Amino acid sequence: MRSYTNADVKRLDIEHFIHPYTDFATFRQEGSQITASASGVHIFDEEGRKYLDGIAGLWCVNLGHGRRELVDAIAHQAATMQYYNPFGHSTNVPAALLAAELAELLPGSLNHVFYTTGGSTANDLAIRMVHHYFNRLGKPNKKKIIARVDAYHGSTYVTAQLTGIHATKYGFDSVGQDFIHHISAANSYRRPAGMSEAAYCDHLVQEFEDRILQLGPDNVAAFIAEPIMGAGGVLVAPDGYHRRMHAICRKYGLLYIADEVVTAFGRLGEWSASEALYGYVPDIMILAKGLTSGYIPLGAAVFSSEFYDVIASPQCEGGQLTLGFTYSGHAVACAAGLATIETMKRDGLNEHVRVVGPAFLKALEALNAFEIVGDVRGSHLMCGIELVKDKVAKRSFAPTVGSAHQVFLACRERGLIVRPIGDKIVLSPPLIFTEEHCQETVRILSEAISAVSDTLLAA
Ligand code: PMP
Repeated sequence: MRSYTNADVKRLDIEHFIHPYTDFATFRQEGSQITASASGVHIFDEEGRKYLDGIAGLWCVNLGHGRRELVDAIAHQAATMQYYNPFGHSTNVPAALLAAELAELLPGSLNHVFYTTGGSTANDLAIRMVHHYFNRLGKPNKKKIIARVDAYHGSTYVTAQLTGIHATKYGFDSVGQDFIHHISAANSYRRPAGMSEAAYCDHLVQEFEDRILQLGPDNVAAFIAEPIMGAGGVLVAPDGYHRRMHAICRKYGLLYIADEVVTAFGRLGEWSASEALYGYVPDIMILAKGLTSGYIPLGAAVFSSEFYDVIASPQCEGGQLTLGFTYSGHAVACAAGLATIETMKRDGLNEHVRVVGPAFLKALEALNAFEIVGDVRGSHLMCGIELVKDKVAKRSFAPTVGSAHQVFLACRERGLIVRPIGDKIVLSPPLIFTEEHCQETVRILSEAISAVSDTLLAA
């Protein structure tokens, strides 16, 4: 590698690296902060400043940074057999073992794994597979997909359209994606005034059923949902919501796709959340992020045996699967997945999260005392704070105020990284967070919110 100074890196970065989700004007002016090294629950910038990582990279570095177990597993596999193609009858040891391990850890008959390179590609592939499935069943009209406003499912052409976050759509198109429909998010904080949580749940389930009837059950293939919406602002659905949505899917012959890219692999103290926390077993489960603890890109769409039997049936016309990625089942990535699972089991991380998670949320609830904090919510190590200009009326700040971004900057100054999304701050720390780390996070957040409150309210 050529020799460089930090100033060189910043300049080259501005000149050549198109970053995801970037405001070009401020990016060109301010450039990036370089994450130079990372260890445990901390990252270090180019000046050696230390920050508590409140977001595990991007909801993914669940085991924390610099884990020897992961580094060794990756190095060993890279030295043994780094890559060979997965097409047809060719496999590698980690890919086969990880698929079997996932089949054991996931609920119901989710036994068949298709590997991808991340969450977007797994969701995208799942939609293609769902269409393929109904073609094979001789139901070529059953193609429509119902997703939710405020959902995040990815950045490929199809998954960007599944995504229901308005702010991701500026200047982009959705040509040919009119098979994708959206219903309301399950947003308890923003439910109609005076409506109970139970009545809100009835209302959402009814909206779903009405939409299926309006589109025609013979035309609707699947419903896709995150157990807890992440990028939408950590929206926890009302009690019973997912189970009832799943029952509606069963009633009308829709498949249920659970996007567990964030919620699986310990973030909610379980290998996956759908059955363990919400009492339903999806037909397809989407994994990424925590699957390798973010050390190497890997995603997976995991299919039920009932689904697999249809796509793999030699009786169906065209008994072949004609799709796949060069890096499906990449040996090094799958070795990282196996090491992640082994480390989580050995260290009892799910059990740890079941203790530290509720304590984290409870500590964060102290922030409700601030005038600009409208809502503190979440589950386990997936939490969100919604900022408001008027707490009683639940009125948001004007988008130009950048309320959560101001809190993010004030936190960063004080050595904590949080993630701002519109008026929401999300937190998803490494699962190795201790109660002390939780207290430190809340302390810094408190100081940061105090520091910016008056300016935000005056804006
Ligand atoms: N689904 C969910 C729920 C996500 O949060 C994300 C990423 N944040 C994705 C899908 C897309 O995953 P990736 O960025 O790995 O493509």
